[in-house]
Parts: sequence; structure tokens; C-alpha cells
Amino acid sequence: MQQEAIRLLKAGNTTALVPTMGYLHEGHLALMREGQKHGEVLIISIFVNPSQFAPTEDFQAYPRDLNRDARLAESVGVDVIFAPEADMIYEQGYQTYVNLEALPLYLCGPSRPGHFRGVATVVTKLFNIVKPQVAVFGEKDYQQLAVIRRLTRDLNFDIRIIGVPTVREPDGLAMSSRNTYLAPDERRSARSIHQSIELARQRVAQGVTDARQLIAEASGLIHSHPHNRIDYVTLCDPETLEDVRRVEAPSLLALAVWVGHTRLIDNAILTP
Ligand code: AMP
Repeated sequence: MQQEAIRLLKAGNTTALVPTMGYLHEGHLALMREGQKHGEVLIISIFVNPSQFAPTEDFQAYPRDLNRDARLAESVGVDVIFAPEADMIYEQGYQTYVNLEALPLYLCGPSRPGHFRGVATVVTKLFNIVKPQVAVFGEKDYQQLAVIRRLTRDLNFDIRIIGVPTVREPDGLAMSSRNTYLAPDERRSARSIHQSIELARQRVAQGVTDARQLIAEASGLIHSHPHNRIDYVTLCDPETLEDVRRVEAPSLLALAVWVGHTRLIDNAILTP
């Protein structure tokens, strides 16, 4: 991949990279279509990155189907699929990691120790290997996008980072490879995640600004459905991710909810 990246650079091509963990869905394909607008060569990576999963998490169970992914990628014009094995990315004796000081302290950080270290490390490695001029990420993983924007600046990567709005199922559930884990009744309960965001949006439009009240109402809706257990519902500053007490400026509503054994996340910017 590094040799190919150098060849593409020398030939004067602009390359766009879309990193994924595979089991592609419409959300991923939207990122690829966006990437195509910005690069003459579109490269995707498919890598279920072990270093971003805690030992208790679903690394083994994570769905994988490279043949299906290759067909879908081809259908949107992907030129190169980089699908390395874990021992190529983390060879024996591997010991270098990328840590951010503040962004991982918030939202998903506390319940997923080491997650953003794994994400920051693998994305840094992918940037060095693929050498893209543009990289595309989903706003669905808002904190991940914030981490990547920050590390790109901090480590002087000459790469334009593009965020793509969340692609949803017809009933509003954010698309995720993990949705395949949901049993039919869990799938019904999962709808309440998006519904709670819409409720909060409505309440802000009606003039409610108190973060505690908005969070309580959103949480109440989620709790009114079976199988749901809230990890967090937070209203925070979209840049620093620090809690806000009032929605007086555009604020990020971010949620993580366990639906049965599946942990789902979603978010939206609420504007007063
Ligand atoms: P993943 O394969 O889950 O690691 O996701 C790869 C990329 O796709 C990340 O940048 C995600 O934020 C993005 N992504 C995942 N789901 C969606 C979605 N429903 N809409 C938009 N982007 C998404």
C-alpha cells in the first residue's frame, strides 16, 4: 500500500481516504461518494482495529464480510481497498501509540478506556501508509471526528478532513454495522434514541434551554422502552465537549445507549 501510495503521489493524483471497519452500509457509501468528489483516486481501508476495542468489547463478534464489502465498494467507484491483517499493522514488539490529552476525557471516553488511543493510533498509521490529501469521516462518530481533526492539526498532517452527516434508516435510527446485533424487539426500542434527539430539538425550539431538563426528558423517553439502558446523555460544547448548563449557543446532544447487549451512539447539534 505504501508503494502504491507513493506511485499515486508521483503521478500527481489527489487521493481521498475513507477509513472503515467494514460490513459496509449506506452510511459508509455516503462517505465514499463524498470522497470521490475530492480525490481522483478513492482509497478505502477495511480494518477491524483491535487496539480500539477493550478486552470486554465485541472485537471477535464484529461482523466481517470482505467479499460483500468489495462488491459494494466497487459499486460506488472505489479504486483501492486496503484491508491489512492485524499483525501487519501491529507487528511483534509494537509499542507506539497516539494519545490526546483532553477530548477522550468526555462522552464515550470514560466507558471505553483506550478506545480513542486506538482510534488515534490507527488513523495516524493509515495517514502515513496511504498518504491521502483528503480523508472522510462520519459525524455519527462525532467525538472520533473531533479527535481526528485535532490530531491532524496537532501532528501537522497535510490532510483535509471532511465530515459527512449521519445517514439514517427510514425510522431515524443511525445506520451502524452494530445494528445487525439487534433482535426485532430491540430494534424497535432503538428507535427511541433518534426520537429522543427529535424531542430535545423540539423542546429547544419551544424555548427550553436548561440542559438538565432537556437531558431528563430525552432520557425519560429512552427509558420508556424495554431493553434500553443509558450509558450517557450529554449536552456539551461542540468543540471542547465540556458540559453546558444551558443551550444558549449551538450545543452537541450526544448519547450512548445499551439496547440489550448492543451499545449504540447518536448525536445532533441543537441550535437555540
Ligand atoms: P466504522 O466502520 O463504523 O468504523 O465507520 C467508518 C466510518 O463511517 C466512520 O467515519 C463513521 O463515522 C462513518 N459512519 C458510520 N456510520 C455512519 C452513518 N450512519 N452515517 C454516516 N457515517 C457513518
